Amino acid sequence: MGSRTVSLGIPVPRRTDPAAPSLPDTSDRPASRALIDPFGRAATDLRVSLTDFCNLRCTYCMPESGMAFLKKDQLLGVDEIVRLVRIATEQFGVDQVRFTGGEPLTRADLPEIVAGVAALERRPEISLTTNAIGLEVRAAGLRAAGLDRINVSLDSVVSETFERLTRRPLLHRVLEGIEGARAAGLAPIKINAVLLPGINDHELPDLLAWCLERDLQLRVIEQMPLDADGIWERSSMITAARMREILAERYVLSPAPVERAGAPAELFDVADRASNEHLGRVGTIASVTEPFCGDCRRTRLTAEGRVRTCLFSHEETDLRGALRGGASDDEIADIWRAAHWGKAAGHGMGAAGFSRPERPMSAIGG
Ligand code: SAM
Ligand code: SF4
Repeated sequence: MGSRTVSLGIPVPRRTDPAAPSLPDTSDRPASRALIDPFGRAATDLRVSLTDFCNLRCTYCMPESGMAFLKKDQLLGVDEIVRLVRIATEQFGVDQVRFTGGEPLTRADLPEIVAGVAALERRPEISLTTNAIGLEVRAAGLRAAGLDRINVSLDSVVSETFERLTRRPLLHRVLEGIEGARAAGLAPIKINAVLLPGINDHELPDLLAWCLERDLQLRVIEQMPLDADGIWERSSMITAARMREILAERYVLSPAPVERAGAPAELFDVADRASNEHLGRVGTIASVTEPFCGDCRRTRLTAEGRVRTCLFSHEETDLRGALRGGASDDEIADIWRAAHWGKAAGHGMGAAGFSRPERPMSAIGG
């Protein structure tokens, strides 16, 4: 483990106040309504964190204890979230919105948020990333409210491993949630898995078999340095190339004939090694070893209403103050645009001088 000191509580990144001189110089920004950056990318994919709170404590995301969570009045409310999404769809052409966190299902008003966004004139595709705890009772309501797609995070289907990774003995709750989503007609269901060396990497072929048997689409994600405990190490992390080697012990993988179009996942057709029968697909997401920053179309909002142009930003731009201070849609959109004009070319993981963001993943919004 590195010698980095980890601050608990809510680590607060340097804040870019719209009134402060540290906002990027936008004098050379072309007059465009799009959310563009100086590298020619336009953001049309919005991730909205709804809370920094979670009922699990995944080791690669949160510390075991010591987190101080945002208070209710610090979180954006339903109307504020829907307004920001509306501005993003109307002004920037955002056409995809994903709700995340922390754990978004811990917000009781999630169906209202989804319904508000689904009622927008320029309705975006609406998706949710969740640990699925409690989904069995929420799924039908969320689907009725307008939820289109769902990703469930599940790193292991072995109870002991699940508890080691999440620090909670709640695998059965996640499995109930997945079945509840299926029963509610949410399809396809994608499963996100992060592999940690020596903990669940050897289970990968079994996890894929489990997903294929249930028509769940597995996406295996490289662990990024966004944990609160500083456990990430570049030298021992499981790379996408290693994931494919592990899977090749049981399956034949061949690149799927699909247009990637900026999607982070590289998809593979999966066939049984013995019979050659086609069984389905698997995706690998090589955020660290094969970064897709050049194709990035993302903009992010934290749960307290700050723009982040990248998971790895050290700066955030507050929109909540403008929202609550009576700013117009155009004024808010312009603060957001100015933030994106300061977006970095790439996350720089692996480059000399890379430094991790101050907040863990749960407080940024994954
Ligand atoms: N609680 C929800 C969940 O777990 O799906 C949503 C929030 S979580 C932060 C979103 C995604 O980020 C999850 O799929 C999780 O596996 C992933 N994630 C968290 N920490 C990560 C890390 N250090 N590296 C890669 N992915 C990570
Ligand atoms: Fe919670 Fe999701 Fe982070 Fe796990 S990955 S601690 S479920 S926010």
